[in-house]
Amino acid sequence: MTVKIDENKCQGINNCGTCFDACALNMLQDVDNTPKPKVPGCVDCGLCIIACPSDAISK
Ligand code: SF4
Ligand code: SF4
Repeated sequence: MTVKIDENKCQGINNCGTCFDACALNMLQDVDNTPKPKVPGCVDCGLCIIACPSDAISK
């Protein structure tokens, strides 16, 4: 399982990028300015969920 990103809530990586800094495993990639978890790779740890100021990431 990986986390899900709500593109309507995400401010865009260029404006925010907090989740990139939060992921200790560097498992987020930039796809057209929206973060996307790598599969396989993301371990569903939830650090990015806690870090996102826009509540855009969920399990
Ligand atoms: S759930 Fe954890 S491993 Fe997956 S992208 Fe978020 S911080 Fe990285
Ligand atoms: S922390 Fe949230 S709002 Fe910021 S880039 Fe990541 S998903 Fe988007």
